[in-house]
Amino acid sequence: MSTPIAKSTPTFANYINGEWVESSQTFEKRNPADTDELVASFSTGSAQEVASAANAAAAAFPAWSSLNAPARGNILFKAADLLERRFESIAAEMTREEGKTLPESKGEVRRSINIFRYFAGEGSRLPGMLVPSERDRVHMFAIRKPIGVIGLITPWNFPSAIPAWKLAPALICGNTVVLKPASAAPLSSWRIVEALHEAGIPRGVVNFVAGPGGELGNALVQAKPLKALSFTGSCQIGNHLHDQASKRRLRIQLEMGGKNPTIVLADADFKSAVEHVVNGAFFSTGQKCTATSRAIVEDGIYDKFLEALVDRTRKLKVGNGMEPGVDIGPLVDQAQMDTVLRYIEIGRKEAGAPKIGGRRLTEGGLAKGYFVEPTVFADVTESMTIAQEEIFGPVLAVMRAKNFEDALRIANNIPFGLSASIQTTNLSHVFDYVYQMEAGLLTVNLPSAGVEYQLPFGGTKESSFGPKEQGPAALEFYSDYKTVYLKY
Ligand code: NAP
Repeated sequence: MSTPIAKSTPTFANYINGEWVESSQTFEKRNPADTDELVASFSTGSAQEVASAANAAAAAFPAWSSLNAPARGNILFKAADLLERRFESIAAEMTREEGKTLPESKGEVRRSINIFRYFAGEGSRLPGMLVPSERDRVHMFAIRKPIGVIGLITPWNFPSAIPAWKLAPALICGNTVVLKPASAAPLSSWRIVEALHEAGIPRGVVNFVAGPGGELGNALVQAKPLKALSFTGSCQIGNHLHDQASKRRLRIQLEMGGKNPTIVLADADFKSAVEHVVNGAFFSTGQKCTATSRAIVEDGIYDKFLEALVDRTRKLKVGNGMEPGVDIGPLVDQAQMDTVLRYIEIGRKEAGAPKIGGRRLTEGGLAKGYFVEPTVFADVTESMTIAQEEIFGPVLAVMRAKNFEDALRIANNIPFGLSASIQTTNLSHVFDYVYQMEAGLLTVNLPSAGVEYQLPFGGTKESSFGPKEQGPAALEFYSDYKTVYLKY
């Protein structure tokens, strides 16, 4: 909802062509742990501002792309230093805007800083190719060149790390960008843009326009100067953007939903397996694209595992993520909470009462937040909705498998392919899983979530489209090759 600017409310402006641009309309971000707390107000951007931002990015492109890459890297290093200096306050803001616990927010801000440093260093490498020619006295090589103006559309669940892992590689390759953050958590990425501004990024190289996804997203995908679009969010919006982008032949990268399994075999280290499933399913309130939403457990240990899982889940403390000792914060907003509660009702009809959880929590100071109990459904079967559709909340479906082969078959029997985990001590099963599991990110004897930035990130099947993000792979989307044959 847009309201006129109130003088007393701090308003975070959009950033277009190196200027902070306020609008007459603003939208509010309230703390999902306590909606009485107004975290920030943001200028509501318009389609016209997205167009201006794209034009500014186009005007800035020639100079930025011709600046040498180590010099571009120096600006990214400076931005990382500024984020580091404000580490504590930026992390606290993230908890207040998104709801994740303070340690989780700290981990994410640390990761954003690391991502900026990693890609700043990439400015001194930007590897091309140099290979021997079949012809005498021909020198042949390929150099990387930037793409141009790139649109970045990001979700709320990693409000700093995802913008960071798009911005940093885009910029180091010499592109200019327009960032449209999620309306549910724009502040964390605003802080990155602020750091880039203070680090001396030339005007127009980075632009930030917050506001309604439909209007701004449409303006961005239609913006004339745009050459590429990187999107992370739901399948529904990603597929819609793909339709629009392909009509214009935009280069596009989509990272979308998941329904990630953790396979638990009878030979697993039992205690660790319980911990890893609980961590994967419930930390960050289950709002990670790589969260475990299906635990596929081998028959021989199913009952014992379910009992231990429920016991461990009971010990989780739900509350305001700013409070020490809290494990699970609120859902990000009312809409997300309503979706989760709706799926819990579907789960009740399909699988019976949950073994634990299943309610909104309103007691003891939680009434003004979007808190839902960590919820475990047992004896979930493959055709059930809660085994097929992404819920994106603290809801786990536990499924029974006859053996490893059956577990792997169940794990693959979904349209998604983002992440997967296996808990086992059997080396052959590990390798069969590595080669046969249909997912882009695999873990072994770890939770399904919790990736680092140095390797490619992204899924397969309906979860993703286009080149991978992060690590050296990120350069593939944000740059192109120019191939040179030179006779001397
Ligand atoms: P979302 O509703 O698809 O929104 C993502 C972004 O798209 C937001 O910035 C949103 O703006 C914008 N948007 C909304 N409508 C649009 C339109 N018509 N055109 C262009 N942009 C539009 O997703 P979300 O709820 O923020 O995030 C949760 C989803 O993201 C889950 O499905 C999760 O699995 C996925 N995710 C995937 C990954 C991955 O790497 N695979 C990582 C994190 C999250 P507004 O906020 O203003 O609506």
